[in-house]
This record gives sequence, C-alpha cells and structure tokens, in this order.
Amino acid sequence: MRVLLIGGGGREHALALGLVQDPATERLVAAPGNPGIAAVAELRDVEATSPEAVAALAVELAADLVVVGPEAPLVAGVADAVRAKGIACFGPSGAAARLEGSKAFAKDVMAAASVPTARAFSCTTRAEAERALDEFGTPYVVKNDGLAAGKGVVVTDDRDVALAHAEACGQVVIEEYLDGPEVSLFVVTDGEAALPLMPAQDFKRVGDGDAGPNTGGMGAYAPLDWAPADLVDEVMRDVAHPTLAEMRRRGTPFAGLLYIGLALTKAGPRVIEFNARFGDPETQVVLALLETPLAGLLHAAATGTLADHPPLRWHPGAAVTVVLASHGYPASARSGDVITGADGPGIIHAGTARRATDGALVSAGGRVLCGTAIGPDLASARDAAYALVDGVTLAGAHRRSDIALAAVEGRVRLP
Ligand code: AMP
Repeated sequence: MRVLLIGGGGREHALALGLVQDPATERLVAAPGNPGIAAVAELRDVEATSPEAVAALAVELAADLVVVGPEAPLVAGVADAVRAKGIACFGPSGAAARLEGSKAFAKDVMAAASVPTARAFSCTTRAEAERALDEFGTPYVVKNDGLAAGKGVVVTDDRDVALAHAEACGQVVIEEYLDGPEVSLFVVTDGEAALPLMPAQDFKRVGDGDAGPNTGGMGAYAPLDWAPADLVDEVMRDVAHPTLAEMRRRGTPFAGLLYIGLALTKAGPRVIEFNARFGDPETQVVLALLETPLAGLLHAAATGTLADHPPLRWHPGAAVTVVLASHGYPASARSGDVITGADGPGIIHAGTARRATDGALVSAGGRVLCGTAIGPDLASARDAAYALVDGVTLAGAHRRSDIALAAVEGRVRLP
C-alpha cells in the first residue's frame, strides 16, 4: 500500500511508526509531517486543512490509503475530498466530524441515541449562562462550542472565571460536573462495524496532582488495570453502537476513529466528549501496544470491510508516554529553543522543527515531544518513559512527574 498520512504532531509520529511497521506499507508519505516523522516517511509540504491540496497529493501519489490525523482537516472536509477521487480515506466526513466540531451537536446526537452523558445547556447570552451555572452548581464546567484542540474547557469553582470564559467564547455548553476517573476509548469503525482499541488514561492538567489549566494532554498510559473488566463491552453497547446507529440514521455515517472520553462515575460511565480522531497523547501508548498491523486495520475501516477483520492482538505489558512541554505552555508557549538528545527510539516528536539557518532541531509549539516506552509492567514502562524525556535538553521545558504514578501505586479509586 502507498499510504499518505496527514498531520504533523505527536499523534501522527505515533501513527507513522505504526504504519511503517506494517509489512503492507510499501511507501509512506506524510504531509506536512515533522522532523521525527522524517525518519520513517517522505515529507511533503502541503496545507493539511486544504481539501483540494490533500486530494491532489493523494492522486499524485496514487495513494491506496489516506490517514487523516488531526481534527481541523476532517472538519474542513479533507476526507470527503479524498474519497471523491475514489481513494480510501481513514477519517470521517466533514458532516460526521461535527461530533467533535460542535459540542452542542454531540449533545444532540447523544440525547437522540440515549447515550449517558452530563446534563447540559447550550448558552449564548450571559443570562442563559448564569441560569445554567445556578442549575448545576460548582465545580462549573464551561465548554467552548467550537474546535479548541482540547483546550476550550474551563472547570472552576470561581463563578467569575466561568462567566468570563462563557463571554469570551460566545457560544458555550455548560454542563454538570462528572466525578470519577477519566478513560479514553478509541473505536475504529467503518460506520457500522466497530473495533475498540485498548482503553487508556491521559493527564489533561498541566501540573502534578492535576493542578493548573487544561492542556492538550501531558502524558498517558495503558492498560488500565483498575478499570472494571466489562468496561469496554458496556461502552460499546451503551455508547459506541447507539451513536454510530444515530449517525447512520441521520444520513451522515461516522467512519474513522471515534474517540470516546469517559468519566467513570458512581452512576456508571458517562461520556465527557467525542472526538473524531485519535487522541494525543493516548495514541502513543495504545499504538505502542497494538500488535495487529495498523495500515491493514485502518484500510479495512476506510473501505467498509471491518466486519471481516480478525480480532485485534496486543503486546503484553504496559506503555507510558510523558510529554515535554515548552517554556510557558499552555498560557504562552515559547518556540525556537534548541533541543538535544531527541533522536533515540521512543522519542515522539510533536512541536519540533528544523531551524532554517543550520538545520538544528528546535521547539515549535507547546507540547514539544514525548518519551514513549513499553515494559513488562506499568512501573518499568514508566521508569523507561521518564528516562527518555529526562535525556532530552530543552531550555525552560517542563513535564509532569506523576504520569501513571497513582496507577503504579494502586491509588486509582473508582467512586
Ligand atoms: P473536553 O474538551 O470536553 O474533553 O474537556 C476537557 C477536559 O475537561 C476533560 O478531559 C475533563 O478533564 C474536563 N471536563 C470536561 N467536561 C467535564 C465534566 N462534565 N465534568 C468534569 N470534568 C469535565
């Protein structure tokens, strides 16, 4: 297969490593890619959010499969444009990607499909926002209704902060707070058949002990030994299949990666959010453990043949990834700092670039890279992931020190 991968973050580096390991992949091209991906794929400098440009590149390469990593190209209709050329594409249509692109749309689909989620109100005026805050009480949860790369949510006890976020966003969803550990479940689907990957946990807050603002994600691990044994079956039955059925009923079937973000509350799993693509950085750990060839799996989903795909196989053991973030992230990330020690296996590049003047590797974004390691158990995977990031030098960089720590110490509690 000739495979074209769209995107250039840590998730796409992890996808590239998975795709290139599949013996079915004969050529891998990434657009735009990043310096880490450059080690395993040819890079092409194409505007990832331009449906015309991506479709033209797919035709030029005679691609057998296009894999779209990030949400913005999906919402822009990149998958539609590729499929219109008769090329298989892993990623939902622009219409189906609204499951991620609009929180209000996702809530509407969940209500129609009786999917368990937080009660919520869509608000546009200050009066509506105040009424919703009063209804649910603290902690307040205020979500930007548009795409915000996982950073449009404010969870706070401070009413003024909640109202200020509502005002800054214009259109928001305000919802009840869900109490319980969070789980991310990736579901590969062709619109009808669906295969769940391994549940993972990510760490959204910037600081240790979940302090500070939300980020795109500071680390992740899998598997979740503390999760209920029937969790995946329950979520497939109560969330994934009803949601996919509702999307088919609306004439906009969802094919691609359905990311289900859950809180395991006292009352059972509740959906926090849907995403229309692989989550970053959970992808790094889930794909590190996936033994099933990735290109074949995504191709089956892209061509409507997932029902015939063999069951997934997994490597034994555990995986941990730790994100190294640039100075000032998430408030104001500094770019252009020189990075050293980042070329070994297990270093996944996210926000890195080659400096034009001398080709030096420099930071180019908030989440710069992550160290991803597998091990026979979670503790050893965790030690190895920290050894990887701690071998990297980057001025002013920071990382959390407690990724996967509670799980290693057996401190994750279900309510
Ligand atoms: P989202 O963009 O919807 O995934 O929200 C980002 C993060 O905000 C989630 O991973 C949670 O940590 C937190 N969050 C969102 N909604 C809720 C909720 N209803 N209750 C508690 N935490 C939430």
